[in-house]
Amino acid sequence: CMDKKVALVTGSTSGIGLGVAHGLAQKGCNVIITGFGEEDVIKAIKDEFKEKYQSQCEYIPADLTRASEVERMVRDVKDFFPGGVDILVNNAGFQHVSPVESFPNDKWEALLSVLLTAPFLFIKNILPDMRAKKWGRIVNIASVHGVRASPNKAAYVAAKHGIVGLTKVVALETASSGVTCNAICPGFVDTPILQGQVQTLADKESLSYQEAKGKFLAAYHPSREAVGINELAEFVNFVCSENANQLTGASIVVDGGWTAK
Ligand code: NAD
Repeated sequence: CMDKKVALVTGSTSGIGLGVAHGLAQKGCNVIITGFGEEDVIKAIKDEFKEKYQSQCEYIPADLTRASEVERMVRDVKDFFPGGVDILVNNAGFQHVSPVESFPNDKWEALLSVLLTAPFLFIKNILPDMRAKKWGRIVNIASVHGVRASPNKAAYVAAKHGIVGLTKVVALETASSGVTCNAICPGFVDTPILQGQVQTLADKESLSYQEAKGKFLAAYHPSREAVGINELAEFVNFVCSENANQLTGASIVVDGGWTAK
């Protein structure tokens, strides 16, 4: 049972992270929200959690490009939850697209910091508490780009492959400690960014939304469907459940068949 377990979900002010936070709260977890966002939007998220679930929801800000902020954030968690984090979901991320010859150094640094160094630092600083409690769940939201490449995404693909490797090392080091560590590798997820691109295609080619979605996704997902945020949230709940005690070190694709090709 995940009742009153403390879950820290990075990048939970939006998209997949917000969905995963809802999923865990629904199962009775207390949730720490973090990520960028307007004050009123963050307040609305906190209010919604309070209203919907009988769980505690706290917001702790941190810019994950900065190592010192990750470490400070882990210390701040103890002000609200002295026992520390039970479930860590490393999800925060962004993208920068550019050919490798002109890929800006600062974008490379920032992407590697948020997608790879911040998860490393969260794991490093949170694992001692998990070991002490003999229970923990580390879930890294990687991407199909953790196991496949696309052009013009040098930093993103390198960082996502990196977190798949980090996942395996942490799984080996924590094996038989009650802690598991896994990576989830989604294909295209049904987020506003995808929906906007599909609508643009639909308008341009006078297609229905569903036709445009199928056409847009056909090059990647044999299923021609995107992954639902709720579907990912349910999957994270399973990975965090007692039934997943022996699921560790895995990189699990949820991609409509993309990587089966
Ligand atoms: P999103 O843009 O909706 O949310 C990203 C979150 O990360 C936000 O809360 C944002 O504030 C936070 N964030 C970004 N930079 C940060 C920083 N420097 N410090 C602190 N927080 C920061 O994105 P999403 O689509 O929900 O993606 C979430 C994760 O899923 C990412 O790691 C992404 O690579 C991965 N992913 C997304 C898709 C997709 O199709 N959307 C597919 C595969 C993997």
